[in-house]
Amino acid sequence: MRRAFLGTSEDNYWTKAGPRYAAIRVPQATEGASRKRGIDSMEKVLDSNGVDLGALQQMEQQALLLLRQYDRGEADLEHTLHAVLTYDKMHGDQRNHEKAYRRVLEDKPWKACTCSICQQCGVEVILFRGNNRNRRRGFHNVRVFYEKFRKEVSKLRAVSSESEATPLQLSLRF
Ligand SMILES: [Zn+2]
Repeated sequence: MRRAFLGTSEDNYWTKAGPRYAAIRVPQATEGASRKRGIDSMEKVLDSNGVDLGALQQMEQQALLLLRQYDRGEADLEHTLHAVLTYDKMHGDQRNHEKAYRRVLEDKPWKACTCSICQQCGVEVILFRGNNRNRRRGFHNVRVFYEKFRKEVSKLRAVSSESEATPLQLSLRF
């Protein structure tokens, strides 16, 4: 259940059709943030990129704005991806999520989901950012999991009622 809420880096968003997607991380540019989950401390981010907090926050807002515009069909994929990746890479050398982020942005799986969270939040549901968004994605995942589970159970019931019916039908026939 913990995985439904956090996931590993490339399977944070589950779909009914099966494929799992990466959530897009837009790290929060917060003063004094310490290093966590592969993201450098704010001090290091500012230091190694030679920017101040204000400039970093602007890039953060620009990435978020483009993601929302992309969701509405008002920004193109390359432009959006570029802003997200450029901002992301400032947070640590090891960060390269181009393939995973391109895939989720191209497929827009949140648009195909009928759950109320995806319907209401749109692209926000795939942003890895802050507890509220992560929690909402968790509820979406739990729902996907539950629906798949229910389908499997009803398949099992169908199979077992067929096999139970057989002897009865046979006995009626004779
Ligand atoms: Zn959903």
